[in-house]
Order: sequence, then structure tokens, then C-alpha cells
Amino acid sequence: MAVKVLINGYGSIGKRVADAVAKQDDMEVIGVTKTKPDFEAKLAVEKGYKLFAAIPERKGLFEEKGVEIEGTIFDVIEDADIVVDCAPGGIGKDNLENIYKKYKVKAILQGGEKAKFVEDSFNALWSYDRCYGKDYIRVVSCNTTGLCRTFYAVDSVTDIVKARVVLIRRGADPNDAKRGPINAIVPNPPTVPSHHGPDVVSVVPKFEGKILTSAVIVPTTLMHMHSLMIETTGTTRDAILDAIEKTPRVFTVSAEDGLNSTATIIEYARDLGRPRYDLWEIPIWEESVNVVDNEVFLMQAVHQESDVIPENIDCIRAMLQMEDDNMKSIEKTNKSLGIK
Ligand code: NAD
Repeated sequence: MAVKVLINGYGSIGKRVADAVAKQDDMEVIGVTKTKPDFEAKLAVEKGYKLFAAIPERKGLFEEKGVEIEGTIFDVIEDADIVVDCAPGGIGKDNLENIYKKYKVKAILQGGEKAKFVEDSFNALWSYDRCYGKDYIRVVSCNTTGLCRTFYAVDSVTDIVKARVVLIRRGADPNDAKRGPINAIVPNPPTVPSHHGPDVVSVVPKFEGKILTSAVIVPTTLMHMHSLMIETTGTTRDAILDAIEKTPRVFTVSAEDGLNSTATIIEYARDLGRPRYDLWEIPIWEESVNVVDNEVFLMQAVHQESDVIPENIDCIRAMLQMEDDNMKSIEKTNKSLGIK
């Protein structure tokens, strides 16, 4: 029987999680919530999702606009086996304390929430077993997910002594007209190291003290980019390329093929016919992979709106104890979405 999944917060991440859950043969979407009756709410109903008001006091707004809702979150929460919270960063932890714990329903929070509010932090490659059967888990951010996957590949062929990463972050998602910068490069955070290293450690504790990161925000909406410098006990370029090939959800792209920027990588995702041009996998530039004196260098991009989506699906399977082998869950999710 399919497990019942409620999506609380049908925004950039929520609508993608809903569509991915709907593609699984062992899961069903029992509802999605919105705070207001905007175009996303109307499209959710058109797609056939049952829509609920995330905030009961706003129920009237939907009725006024003629957007059909089935009730409020409190009319559906008791039917859910698990809630995937996709509310804006910081709100998830309030929902956890005020709703999910009160109704004793399992919940996944997203990367905008702090690690300390949940039992553990999830990445399908690293912490599936730790999260197995747990009640409150956080799927880490898009950047942390991308780094975890690549460190997994490197770690599979050598030992990581220390890694330094510069994150070049997109200023806003494409649908966001309020954020920036429009014409600047912003150290964010201006303090070094940034919080991204400790976030990786929340998934991979053995990297404590080994991952040092700094980050800037630039005027682009398509993707993030990471430049990684990883000191190892010794490896070769071929071994790293082979490890990337064998690691799920990372792949190499070649600038020589024209995939020489985030712009053409997104064009590639469009040409693949991906929904919303989502690139769930992390593309690593083949030309950038190099090993100098035991230090691995590489550059990768991260499609911020989509790389965490398959992780949410695997996290549901782990928390509800639906599959005890992480690689089997990854394979099932990948097949359902069309990830190579
Ligand atoms: P979003 O603003 O696109 O969507 C959030 C949705 O939640 C909106 O529909 C909003 O109306 C709704 N909402 C607001 N208050 C709510 C409440 N109290 N209860 C339920 N829903 C509420 O945000 P997003 O980009 O989808 O981000 C969601 C989470 O995912 C955040 O933690 C964020 O950090 C994380 N995340 C975002 C990205 C990204 O690039 N967009 C990537 C990875 C992780």
C-alpha cells in the first residue's frame, strides 16, 4: 500500500516534491497546502492535488477567490504518514513544534532550517541508515547536498585530509523579483569559514574540522557553482573520474561539448525535456578535475531548485522504513524521475 504524504508549503521545493512523490509507486500525495490563493494554488488544483489552507485563518481568502480547497491542514494532517515541510526557511521549525509534534506525525524539514531542531540531517548516500525509522529529519540544503555527493565520490577512492570550497551562490531563484544583488558580488556570509562546512559535517561527522568554506552571492538565478580543493592521502585524476562515474546523482560535463557555463547546462536540461528544466544531478566539469600533489581540484554546478528533490523521496523511504538499502532506494527514485 502506498504511504500517504502531505506537502506543507507548495512553493519552489514543495511543488517539485509533490510531483516527484506522485511519480512513486509506493507513495501518494494526499494533499498540498498554500497560504494564499495565487497561481500556484490554482495550478495545484488543476493538476489534481487536493489543496488545503496552511493557515486556518486564511481559509476565507481561497473561498473569496473561488479557489477550491478541501479544508485546512488540520483536516488532513491526521491522515498523513509523513509531512514534507517546504515552508520558507525558519518557518519549518515552528511548524515542527506547533503542528507535527502535536499531531505525532513524522516530518521532513528542508535545508533552510537548523540541524539542531531535528534528530538528524539527511543525504541518501551518507546518512540513510542513521535516519532509518526516525521521526524528524532535515534534508540538507542544495549546496550541502551537492558537496555531500561529490565528497562521497572522492571519499570512495581516497581519504580526505582537508577540503576547501568556494561557493558562488545564485542571487535568487528565477521566480524571485525581490532578492539580489543586481550588480554586485556580495561576500555572504562575510565571515570565513562560512556555515556550509559545518552543514556538511551534520551529515558526515567524520569530516569535523576538515571542510572549510567561504561563499559569495552573484547576480544570476540559474545555478550555484562550487570550486573544490580537496587534500587527500593520494589519488589520481583517473581514479576520481571513475569514482564520479560510479557515484549516483553526479556526472561529468565537458566544456568542449559546449557545456561551458551554467547557462548551457540549463539549456541541456531544457533539451532533455526535464520538467521546469530541473537538473537533479550535480554536473562536474571534466576539464576541471585535476590532481596536483595529492590535492584534488574540481568545479561543479548545483541546480538549487531541484537537486534536493530525489533526496526528499529517499528520506521518506528511510523514515517510513520502506526500503532498508539506500542504494536500492536511490535506484528506484532515479528510475522514477528519469535520472541517468
Ligand atoms: P518558497 O518561498 O518558494 O516556498 C515556500 C512556500 O511555503 C510558499 O508557497 C509559501 O506560501 C508557503 N508558506 C509560507 N508560510 C507557510 C506556513 N506557515 N506553513 C506552510 N507553508 C507556508 O520557498 P522554497 O524556495 O521552496 O524553500 C522552502 C525550503 O526549502 C526552505 O527551507 C529553503 O531554504 C529550502 N531550499 C530551497 C531551495 C531553493 O533554491 N529554492 C533549495 C534547497 C532548499
